[in-house]
Amino acid sequence: VSPHPRVDNQGPVVEVSGFRIGGDHLALMAGPCSVESEEQIFEMAARLATAGASFLRGGAYKPRTSPYAFQGHGSEALTWMRRAADAHGLRVVTEALSESDAGNVAWHADLVQIGSRNMQNYALLKAVGRTGKPVLLKRAMSATIEEWLLAGEYLLVHGASGVVFCERGIRGFDTETRNLLDLGAVALLSHVHHVPVIVDPSHATGRRDLIAPLARAALAAGAAGLMIETHDDPGKALSDGPQALRSEELAHLVGTFRGMRA
Ligand code: PEP
Ligand code: MN
Repeated sequence: VSPHPRVDNQGPVVEVSGFRIGGDHLALMAGPCSVESEEQIFEMAARLATAGASFLRGGAYKPRTSPYAFQGHGSEALTWMRRAADAHGLRVVTEALSESDAGNVAWHADLVQIGSRNMQNYALLKAVGRTGKPVLLKRAMSATIEEWLLAGEYLLVHGASGVVFCERGIRGFDTETRNLLDLGAVALLSHVHHVPVIVDPSHATGRRDLIAPLARAALAAGAAGLMIETHDDPGKALSDGPQALRSEELAHLVGTFRGMRA
């Protein structure tokens, strides 16, 4: 018996509100790190839909290293994001940070994100699994691939309709980039385990100048999609401005994917 029977039997495609992640079309998830205001998320949704995104990302509940940093607008931001996405034909992917938020996040989102810092928060995995929604499971910064797959197993055992894995960089020794993007893990999940995996080059590098080459490398390695932080005034972003593309830069990048998965 496989140590991760449900993950290995899930298959290469996870359907999220009619979009087949792992199917023929690249799953492009874009949006600000944090949902900063109702106006911001509506404007971003309009621009990102034009740029080719299928999913609007944005944090309502933010897991910040410092308790003094912006923590997110919470439940209100979920309603803004849902309405902005619906207005532009996008799906919502957003993070559930605690068991008590899981139901409300699942109600507003098409795809519930588990952040890196919570990949091994088993009570949260169970609570999110029980919502029955598909889940985007980010790899913890120091998790082995085996631990990551088993976290996916938790979600599926407890009722998640599917798990999409997200490689967002692991801890390395170098400080020039924020993290170390593990493309070997992407190839392994995609080509050996045959599960959908997407890559987040924003959190992987912390630098907008490296997003384009790593996005293309991710697709070449077998990624089913990308999560890219976007902000149209990155100098004023409430979180993660240095790793955000402007929406027109995202549109340009998408144009370079032709012949890859598009
Ligand atoms: C995020 O996607 O905004 C986020 C907090 O990512 P991670 O959990 O990968 O740090
Ligand atoms: Mn971020």
